[in-house]
Amino acid sequence: MGQDLRSYLELVKSKKPDDFQIVTREINPAYEITALVAKLESEAKRRPILLFEKVKGTEFPVLTNLHASRSRLALGMNVQPEEMQKAYLRAMEKPVPPKIVSKAPVKEVILGGDEVNVLALPQIMHHEGDAGPYLTAAISFARSPDGETWNCAYNRLQVRGRNTTSIHLTLAKHLWEFYRVAEAKGEPLPVAFAIGVHPAIALGALAIGSIDEDERAIMGGLLGEPLELIQCETSDLLVPAQAEMIIEGEILPNERAPEGPFGEFTGYSLGERQREILKVKAVTHRKGAVFQDIAVGHLDHMLLSTISIEANLYRAVRAMVPSVKAVRVPAPFTCYVSIKQRVSGQAKNAILAVLGADLYMKRVVVVDHDVDIFNDRQVNWAVATRCQPDRDITIITNTRGSDLDPSTKEDGYTSKWGVDATAKPSLEAYAPRHRVPREVWERIDLKDFFP
Ligand code: MN
Repeated sequence: MGQDLRSYLELVKSKKPDDFQIVTREINPAYEITALVAKLESEAKRRPILLFEKVKGTEFPVLTNLHASRSRLALGMNVQPEEMQKAYLRAMEKPVPPKIVSKAPVKEVILGGDEVNVLALPQIMHHEGDAGPYLTAAISFARSPDGETWNCAYNRLQVRGRNTTSIHLTLAKHLWEFYRVAEAKGEPLPVAFAIGVHPAIALGALAIGSIDEDERAIMGGLLGEPLELIQCETSDLLVPAQAEMIIEGEILPNERAPEGPFGEFTGYSLGERQREILKVKAVTHRKGAVFQDIAVGHLDHMLLSTISIEANLYRAVRAMVPSVKAVRVPAPFTCYVSIKQRVSGQAKNAILAVLGADLYMKRVVVVDHDVDIFNDRQVNWAVATRCQPDRDITIITNTRGSDLDPSTKEDGYTSKWGVDATAKPSLEAYAPRHRVPREVWERIDLKDFFP
C-alpha cells in the first residue's frame, strides 16, 4: 500500500470516482471553502473530497473534506467500514515501528531562513468570528525533552506572520506535557508538522493512549508497513518522508499571545486565550505540493476523530468489563456503552473506565446489551425506563476535561457524570419487554393481509 496522499487519491479515483471532485474555478480561501463543504453536505447531500486548483493569494492547491466518509476512511485502512474498530485496535495492539530513510519527496523544495513565509500558504478562514487564518490539518511530530518519547497530535495553528503562528496545545495532553518540561528549563521545544498525508497517518496521529505509546508505530500498524521518516533540516526530529509539506519550528518558552476565537468541534466559537507561540524555521515540500485543510467542525473533522476515541474506549471498557458489546461517541464529550452485565456493579465500572481513559469524556451512559446504542431513541428509552436518578447517577467533581468545553467555569476544570441505565437487579429479573407471542409472530405473513 502506498503511504502518501497522492497514492491514496489515486485509489479513491479508481474505486470511488464520485468521491473526488476537482474545482477549477478560482476560490477565495476566506470562508468560501468551508461554505462549499457545508453547502454540498446540507443541500446536495454530498461529501466528496474537494481539490481546489486555483486559490486566491497562493500557488498551492487546497484539498479538503478527505475524511468526511466512513467508507473512505476504511479504504485508507484497507478494510470494510464495519471492520474499522477491529482494525484500529489491531494497530494499537500490534504497532509497526517506523523506519528512517535518507531521501524523501518532501525535500524536493527546501525553504529556510528568509525564504520561510507562512503567508504564502493558503490563508483559510473557516467560520465567521475566527480570529484569523488557521492551519487545521497540521500533524505535530515531537520528542520529549529527555529524548525518550515521541508524540504525534493534531494542533491548530493560527497564522500570525511570515514565520510565526500561535499553537493550541490541549491542556494536560502529551505535547503540552513535553512543552511544560522544556519551558521549565527555559528551552524551546522543537516541533515539526506534516500537512497533506495518507489517512492512515491522520488516524494514527489521533490514537489515544499512554504518553509512551508511539503514534508513529500505530500509523505503521494501520498502513501495514513501517512509516518512512526523514530527519528535519533544522532539528533532529523525524517526519513523514512522503508528506506533501513539512513545517519545522519550535515552541518558544515563556511567550504567549492571543489565540482564537475559533469555531471548533464542540459547535462553538470559543473565545480568545493567551496561548503558546510557534517560531517557524523551515518549510519543505514536494514539487506541486497540495495543501490539506480539514473542514473543522464538519464531518471531515468529526468522523476522523471518533474512530480512534471509540477504539480506545472500547479497549478501556473491555479491560474492566470483558462482556462489553459496543461503544459509541455520539456527541462531544459523550460516550454510550452497551454491556452484557453478568454481575451487578459492572455498569459503574464501565463508567469509571471511560472517564479514566479519555480526558475529553464527560458524560457516559451505560445500557444493557439488548439496547442498540447506535439508535438514540433506544438509549433514551433505556435511560427513561431503567434508571432511577438518585440511585444510578454518579457525579465526579473537580476533574480535568476539555479546555474547549464552554460550560466549564475555568478552562477544562469540570465535573463528569455517568448514568447507569442498565436494568436492576438484572435484565433477566426485570419487567419483561412487551412482545407478540412468538408463535403468532412466526405464523403471521404480511402478504396474506396486504397482498
Ligand atoms: Mn501521545
